[in-house]
Amino acid sequence: MKTIYGLLLTLEKLNIGMTLDNFPSKLLENAVNEFSKLPGIGKKTALRLVLHLLKKETDEVLRFSRSLTQLREEVKHCRICRNISDNDKCNICSNPSRDHRIVCVVENIRDVMSIENTQQYRGVYHVLGGIISPMDGVGPSDLEIESLLARVAKGETDEVIFALSTTMEGDSTNFYIFKKLKDFPVRITTLARGVSIGDEIEYTDEITLGRSIVNRMLFENFMG
Ligand SMILES: [Zn+2]
Repeated sequence: MKTIYGLLLTLEKLNIGMTLDNFPSKLLENAVNEFSKLPGIGKKTALRLVLHLLKKETDEVLRFSRSLTQLREEVKHCRICRNISDNDKCNICSNPSRDHRIVCVVENIRDVMSIENTQQYRGVYHVLGGIISPMDGVGPSDLEIESLLARVAKGETDEVIFALSTTMEGDSTNFYIFKKLKDFPVRITTLARGVSIGDEIEYTDEITLGRSIVNRMLFENFMG
């Protein structure tokens, strides 16, 4: 076994002969195929990661695989905001000191984490699980838009803040939701555009993001 991955590592370093379709082991090939399904991971990187795991103690690799299995099997989505949570209701939705009448609409949990890092926001969230993107086959019904409308329809929301990426897809998602919400008695705002066009929320620095939440503006003014 040592010889096999010693040889593969050497080949990888030399970056030659790496067609990666002549695996000496089916088990190795399967693992590499699974890793290479992850975003941003090509076959070569997948091979490097798998070989790295092979060098670890069995216990350590089992812990790694168990954490993934457990995550997949036991993780829940908060029944109110759809954020990933260990419980039926997430920590933010369960927190009585948050302002539950202000709902910030974000694409995913990474955006929740970025906004929480600014420590400038005391409202709650609604996690869409993506943005409308016809190119990727993502339509409104694939996202948590209906649950957002149902939430607003309960009349317990004063303000909905759009905090989606300032990309074309982010803008069309904002506009789609705006049209659905505009007849509800709710203030609709969007982040101040300190965030430049094309930026993703997740990569914006905390100070800029914090400021753009504090200085949010009415969405209809933004469109005008
Ligand atoms: Zn929640």
